[in-house]
Amino acid sequence: MGLPVVAIVGRPNVGKSTIFNRLIGERIAIVEDMPGVTRDRLYGKGEWLTHTFHVIDTGGIEFGETDEILTQMRYQAELAIDEADVIIMITDSRTGVTDADVELARMLNRTGKPVVLAVNKADNPEMRADIYDFYSLGLGEPFPISGSHGLGLGDMLEEVVLHFPERNEDEYSEDVIRVSIIGRPNVGKSSLTNAILGEERVIVSDVAGTTRDAIDTPFERDGQSYILIDTAGMRKRGKVYESTEKYSVMRAMRAIEDSDVVLVVINGEEGIIEQDKKIAGYAHEAGRGIMIVVNKWDAVEKDDKTMQRFTELIREEFKYLDYAPILYVSAKSKQRVHTILPKVNEISQAHAMRVPTSVLNDLVTDATIRTPPPSDRGKRLKINYATQATVKPPTFILFVNDPELMHFSYERYIENKIREAFVFEGTPVRIWTRKKT
Ligand code: GDP
Ligand code: GDP
Repeated sequence: MGLPVVAIVGRPNVGKSTIFNRLIGERIAIVEDMPGVTRDRLYGKGEWLTHTFHVIDTGGIEFGETDEILTQMRYQAELAIDEADVIIMITDSRTGVTDADVELARMLNRTGKPVVLAVNKADNPEMRADIYDFYSLGLGEPFPISGSHGLGLGDMLEEVVLHFPERNEDEYSEDVIRVSIIGRPNVGKSSLTNAILGEERVIVSDVAGTTRDAIDTPFERDGQSYILIDTAGMRKRGKVYESTEKYSVMRAMRAIEDSDVVLVVINGEEGIIEQDKKIAGYAHEAGRGIMIVVNKWDAVEKDDKTMQRFTELIREEFKYLDYAPILYVSAKSKQRVHTILPKVNEISQAHAMRVPTSVLNDLVTDATIRTPPPSDRGKRLKINYATQATVKPPTFILFVNDPELMHFSYERYIENKIREAFVFEGTPVRIWTRKKT
């Protein structure tokens, strides 16, 4: 089980996306040359005090078949019930309790999932006081909030986090590597999962009420513990929302956030399409360890240059993933499938590696002597001190005289020097420049 999942539901216009935007911390875009990555607005990572959680705006998922509001809401509620640990139902203080609210509350009530009721647009004290009608929804105490003014959210979140499931600390042990297999439909994710797990596959019952954590499969190989986060495992249950592309993107994003290492699967038979790039871009942006797995290699007509050409194509199409190793496998014939986990181990080590500060500073000093830092109007960048701030991914901070003087290309140069000196294969490496204080 990964991070807790919070889903926002409610009828149109009550302020779901406003509140969603409040809950997810905007992340800073780190890479410029990354095409095709648009942050989907329906999914994000929220942080409050010491808690980190996934947030889904179910209103962002539209179901093609119907415009009928109640039917849309039913699908959205269904999704929230299946996916979330806690549901926030938003209502509107200006309209009061509507029939649609009553209907939605009834659906949510039947499931036994924790629901926190928020009354939005309570922008002033009188409105915050006037929320008693909302008790009639039978969802307990209503929390008056104002999404646009950012009021009341703390009290609401305090209630939300109370319902988070207890973490199974074993799964978060540093010794466990969390792996996900992502890619668009039909690239062979399920087949690869089965090929990797082999007979150790844990059979998960498909009965109603199976919790979502059951799709995370713990297993061990050669003394190493893993958790395989299955992005495909919950399909084929016949839910309408499962066929929407946004839903599958959302699941992939969540699996990525929960992983240490992500296997980005590409169909060798079909080559690379835009959706592959979008998914890989998100894994990169999320700072996960990444391996590119070209599957169905058995079905590709080959000569002695085919692999080289495909590798060149991948490097061209995924420029920002130049650190990711590429494996050519066949889930069908099992060719090279046994090389996947050893590579995952290496990537996981690189992803969590710490470089001693003294070694790092020697390296940076040496690099600046070889190629002096850029200067602007007579002022030259001076790197005073370097330190590794975090792991997963390895993140380095350069303390400098004037961050304005740092160029992307020089940052890249330092990154390359770090990569030459240490094995950071399969992991993004981040460099931040800060003013020396
Ligand atoms: P959604 O359809 O549920 O996602 O609703 P939106 O977040 O798009 O909001 C619908 C409208 O309500 C927008 O015009 C928002 O600016 C407005 N709105 C959202 N939150 C508040 C609030 O706290 N107070 C007021 N007065 N308006 C709000
Ligand atoms: P998913 O949707 O990504 O989980 O893909 P599946 O694992 O369901 O596989 C989709 C189709 O591709 C199925 O018909 C598989 O039999 C086929 N397939 C998967 N892996 C391979 C492979 O390595 N070689 C060949 N030739 N077919 C494969």
